[in-house]
Amino acid sequence: MKTLFLNPPSFEGFDGGAGSRYQARREIRSFWYPTWLAQPAALVPESKLMDCPPHDIDVQACLAEAKAFDHVVLHTSTPSLKNDCKVAEAIKSQKPNTTIGFVGAHAAVLPVETLKASPVIDWVGRKEFDYTCKEVSEGRPLSEIKGLSYRQDGKIVHNPERDLIANMDDLPWVVDVYKRDLQVEKYSIGYLKEPYLSLYTGRGCPAQCTFCLWPQTIGGHKYRVRSAQNVANEMAHAHKLFPQVKEFFFDDDTFTANLPRAREVAKLLKPLGVTWSCNSRANVNFETLKQMKDGGLRLLLVGYESGNAEILKRIKKGVTLEEARLFTKNCRDLGITIHGTFILGLPVETKETIEETIRYAMELDVFSIQVSLAAPYPGTELYEVARQNGWFAKQDKTAIVQSDGIQDSALEYPGLSKEEIFEAVERFYRRYYFRAKPILRIMKTMLMDKDVFVRRLREGYEFFRFMSQRKAAA
Ligand code: SF4
Repeated sequence: MKTLFLNPPSFEGFDGGAGSRYQARREIRSFWYPTWLAQPAALVPESKLMDCPPHDIDVQACLAEAKAFDHVVLHTSTPSLKNDCKVAEAIKSQKPNTTIGFVGAHAAVLPVETLKASPVIDWVGRKEFDYTCKEVSEGRPLSEIKGLSYRQDGKIVHNPERDLIANMDDLPWVVDVYKRDLQVEKYSIGYLKEPYLSLYTGRGCPAQCTFCLWPQTIGGHKYRVRSAQNVANEMAHAHKLFPQVKEFFFDDDTFTANLPRAREVAKLLKPLGVTWSCNSRANVNFETLKQMKDGGLRLLLVGYESGNAEILKRIKKGVTLEEARLFTKNCRDLGITIHGTFILGLPVETKETIEETIRYAMELDVFSIQVSLAAPYPGTELYEVARQNGWFAKQDKTAIVQSDGIQDSALEYPGLSKEEIFEAVERFYRRYYFRAKPILRIMKTMLMDKDVFVRRLREGYEFFRFMSQRKAAA
């Protein structure tokens, strides 16, 4: 079957990309690569990957394109499901014999609810869905395909589970799909040089963070990796395909979960002379950081989450405040930039713990930060704990973004309302960035590079506009 892998049109600027860790509109226009769709697309000859939001493809243009295909695989998520169903219904209505599949974390953990969300969905993929998509595209009967749920005679049938992929080197590279179907200039993330390009070198994370989406839904808790040589070969290929790319990002849940391998990859990347960045926990030793830096590492994306030790314990972060302090100092000494991420509204947040987190962030004083609201996705331990304790602020437990795609506060606690948590995000940003140190840091980078100057002005404008829209929506 001729297959279209589709990230459908959504709220304006909505990063529901099959790769974003929480799906929402960001403070500044940002898009992650739809790597989770690009991977099966690489397995299916003559398929196409269409990522609508970053390419500003509207519903009409999407429908016109979909007519040429007889199998459409949509990547869905908890906040975008309703909208994705509408797009799927329009596709089926213009060409009724189109087979429609839904994949993604939401479909993986709630296959029945996903199938029931719309009668036009023919199948949903559970767990890792790369080979599930491939086998459906080959025309195999749905009843014979592992890891798939579908309808038969009005009933929902669940086929046996599919094993997680054991040898990650078996997967074809995604960069050729990017080259064929995406415009890399459409992808931007505030803290990465642009244009950037992201890909995975492995899946899964051994850490147990209760809020984290991918390891608990699709990737699992074992870090399964591609060989260092395979990664280096794809990077060399990508470097040739995209000479304009200024930074590569390894979007593995935790690239540093296997330190010997992280060092080996860094060693093989060094001769390529590429600039790269990755996700990391705040517990990597100095020697490994140094070797990664020598191999071209520029930035680490680090989830600090909270400045309160009790919250870190409750969410099973597995990194202490002290470890994170030492790690941050080591990165600073080595000249590695950090973008730190924090979450407000984790259990059990209070006014005091919010204040502690803001102060902790200012003490760490990393280059840039991101402040998100706790997003209790179905399938995560956070969702279950919140349900058992009655912490959901609304009846609809899937309402984690507002009608315009801006993240909403889904949880609240005794003594701390959802509104107070929501409001604290802006206060956090203001307290952090309206200080001499971050302002001077940012201005220095602006004065050193004209393009960065223009970019930061644009992002500053977008940021303040977003904050006022956010306030108005609240
Ligand atoms: S360390 Fe990061 S990727 Fe791993 S479970 Fe925790 S939040 Fe998720």
